[in-house]
Amino acid sequence: MKIIIVALGGNALIKPGEIGTSEQMINNLRAPIKQIAELSQEGYSVIITHGNGPQVGNLLLQQESTEEVTQMPLEILVAETQGQIGFLIESTLDEELMHLGIDMEKYFLTVLTYVEVDPDDRAFKRPTKPIGPAYTRRKKGYVKTSKGWRRVVASPQPKRIIQSREIKKLMDEGFIVIACGGGGVPVVKNETRFHGVEAVIDKDLASAKLAEQVGADILIIATDVEKVALNYGRVDYKYLDRLSVSQAKEYMSQGHFPPGSMGPKVQAAINFLEAGGKKAIITSIEKIKDALEQKAGTHFYLDGF
Ligand code: ADP
Ligand code: MG
Repeated sequence: MKIIIVALGGNALIKPGEIGTSEQMINNLRAPIKQIAELSQEGYSVIITHGNGPQVGNLLLQQESTEEVTQMPLEILVAETQGQIGFLIESTLDEELMHLGIDMEKYFLTVLTYVEVDPDDRAFKRPTKPIGPAYTRRKKGYVKTSKGWRRVVASPQPKRIIQSREIKKLMDEGFIVIACGGGGVPVVKNETRFHGVEAVIDKDLASAKLAEQVGADILIIATDVEKVALNYGRVDYKYLDRLSVSQAKEYMSQGHFPPGSMGPKVQAAINFLEAGGKKAIITSIEKIKDALEQKAGTHFYLDGF
């Protein structure tokens, strides 16, 4: 069985103009989850990872909007989104598997996942990750991003997925596993235990790390654009069908792939291939299967292959 990791964008779950009701998120999940259900019946072992940018930002706003509830630290909100989005994915998956005539109990499982980060990571001094809603007007403490003014938090590098062994075991048992939600709950290791830190890990980088640790064959990063572009957002933009690791690095250094959005996706594809992965693709949530058949997406390859 080929092991495939599908990383679903948190932003892709809430389309432009939507406010992110549960119905809207379930509706947006239908297209990718239908394809994932089919892949699971076509000889693939599937792990689903997902982002949580809009959702974790909403939880922050929610708790800041009243003094009557006790404030939870960011890592606990990340854990909450693993349950929230994990549940939405599970219920959609359940339905789509049923449509395929598969009605098994315990066919999929969401794993609360911790990801170890370095407490001295430079990211803690320089926040880059946009979360929560985007505002059209300037807002105090917010930063201007391609989507508007957003809150920005620290996004340290994922060093290790703590539950990779458990995830691999579940996969070997035939489960579709939902893991690393929101990039994972960020933790640092003390002498004796892990404790949470105030950050949101990029789910694309965490997915590449998980892909490496479980020995995945394919990493598909599914977002709201079908391909990676050069000069994105300009009149002279150009979509890329194929991209070598060295070209990708060069375009990255020229600023084509900004931090907090396309940058980490391209970096994740590079990291996965350099760690021995066979195939890395960035495409839209609608085109996951097309991309696997080379009919969509930007396909990354190691130089010389
Ligand atoms: P996700 O929630 O899927 O992680 P992001 O918003 O983080 O989505 O990243 C996808 C976004 O990256 C696209 O919607 C697009 O606006 C932006 N983007 C920035 N640079 C590029 C580029 N070079 N090519 C394509 N999209 C880009
Ligand atoms: Mg993102």
